Amino acid sequence: MDEDVLTKNLIKQHTFRTWGKQKNWDPLVIKEGKGAYFYDSKGNKYLDFSSQFINVNLGYGNENVIKAIEKQLETLQYINPSLGVSIRAEASRALLEVMPKNITKFFFSTSGTEANEAAIKIIRLIKRPSFKILSRYRSYHGSTEGSISLTGDYRRWFVEPNIMPGVVRFPEPYCFRCPLKLKYPDCGIACANYVDYIIKQEKHVAGIIVEPITGTNGVIVPPKEYMPLLRKIAMENDVLFIADEVMTGWGRVGEWFAVNLWGVEPDILTTAKGASASYVPIGITGVSKEIGDFFEDNVFAHGHTFEAHPVSLAAIPAVISEYKRVNLLPHVREMGKYLGKRLNELKERHISIGDVRGVGLFWAVELVKDGKNTPFADYNDKYEGKPILLDLLAKKALESGVFVYNGPSWFIIAPPLVVEKEDIDKGVEALDKVIREAD
Ligand code: PLP
Repeated sequence: MDEDVLTKNLIKQHTFRTWGKQKNWDPLVIKEGKGAYFYDSKGNKYLDFSSQFINVNLGYGNENVIKAIEKQLETLQYINPSLGVSIRAEASRALLEVMPKNITKFFFSTSGTEANEAAIKIIRLIKRPSFKILSRYRSYHGSTEGSISLTGDYRRWFVEPNIMPGVVRFPEPYCFRCPLKLKYPDCGIACANYVDYIIKQEKHVAGIIVEPITGTNGVIVPPKEYMPLLRKIAMENDVLFIADEVMTGWGRVGEWFAVNLWGVEPDILTTAKGASASYVPIGITGVSKEIGDFFEDNVFAHGHTFEAHPVSLAAIPAVISEYKRVNLLPHVREMGKYLGKRLNELKERHISIGDVRGVGLFWAVELVKDGKNTPFADYNDKYEGKPILLDLLAKKALESGVFVYNGPSWFIIAPPLVVEKEDIDKGVEALDKVIREAD
């Protein structure tokens, strides 16, 4: 049997496809990557126009990061987290340089999901007996039982909806299709002000969690007033404010973290993905000094064998120094402007593009059915077995050598932060071709 087919069969038969049925899974066998490109076993080259799941921030094959990880692996691959190891100090020192100033203490895990689980635990330990957590309808916070309960995206629910009690949802600042049927700026940011009312009515609210810019649910960039207002409402009501920066952190939006766009300091910042640029798994729950101090005399009832894993920690200072070495933030801002311009040109050309929105190298191209505002597919069509046009278009783009991540009605355009204009042009051309089929 062809080696490629054998590999594919082994993967299909003996490993799980996630977020989908096993049948009809046709994984490509990818061999290697370099820069913003990856290659399959037949040598075909693909531009990564979404950084996989918006996580391969430095692209593929960064030698300095690889060396730092290898060095730690050779020196000490593991030590139990109650003992100290110098890389833990180095990682913390590096984080203090880039995190919002008030975030000074870190819990290290291995994914964004776990980073949010730890945040849930922390909020509830501190705010006992208050336990309710507010999250938005269009949100994704992870796949385990606490974090999926925070997740408002019902595409992700199967057995879990509200398995964790105490989650209360609120509407998102999705101006393209305002859930309150209002228009910015006349709306007075009602979607944020409503949260004040919810907190007062619900009582016992311990925390509020938001993706500063909604990610998988369609790159929803809030109006400029929104985040400072929400932060103020949380503070006035003595509710802890958690920024889930799993996707938006690490230069993605042209700042170290998206909260910097509005000068907002959260009580807790959770992150993962770009924290290691995906060279090793890492999750980080960063907390303010006040929260850290609470646990001086209260048990931090949480932990994993692989928490603060030295090899994962080794990636953090290495990645931060790479981000700095390549002068990433100005580069992202410059490339982001160019990408935004190119995507808006696409919008002019295609009747089926309803909205183009984003910041830095984090953009959504949202398709509409009738040139107006009708979503191309319902949120749940996929699991009901209805074909999703955007899945088909993304497959065609892949066949033409461009990988792009899609939701039911939108593409997420978020290339590795090291891309150059010619890579962006290549990706936009591929989109231009496939979107013609939707017009
Ligand atoms: N939070 C946000 C905002 C995310 O985008 C994701 C993943 O995409 C998660 C949490 C979960 O992170 P992970 O897949 O690393 O568990």
